[in-house]
Amino acid sequence: MKILFDKVGHTIKPFHLKEDGMSFNGELQKSGYHRLQLTGDIKGDVELLCNRCGEAFTYTLETPLKLTVSDQIVEDKVDLDIIEFLDGDVDISFILNSEINTLKSEYRYCKNCDNIDETFEMEF
Ligand SMILES: [Zn+2]
Repeated sequence: MKILFDKVGHTIKPFHLKEDGMSFNGELQKSGYHRLQLTGDIKGDVELLCNRCGEAFTYTLETPLKLTVSDQIVEDKVDLDIIEFLDGDVDISFILNSEINTLKSEYRYCKNCDNIDETFEMEF
């Protein structure tokens, strides 16, 4: 799902994306010269692999998202929550997928292994 950068003005433009069991609802609004503000919520179930036992498990993702979108190369990367779309399209699907990939790259334990941790702490 793509939204034309130039179509977004100072009036809030809502978007709703459903993809692979995930939903991404949010708003785009012009926030400056070549800048848009994106706010939204990502919700859905993601299949993850436990970092301890390797079992696949379902993680319910529910996270708010706040990003600045630019259609120009951003020289100063002080603001890390900035994303560049140089071809003039804001690619909502890409943002959703990169959030899911970030989640997958983090260390996660399944419910069983989380419980092991709790028992461990209680015994010692
Ligand atoms: Zn596990």
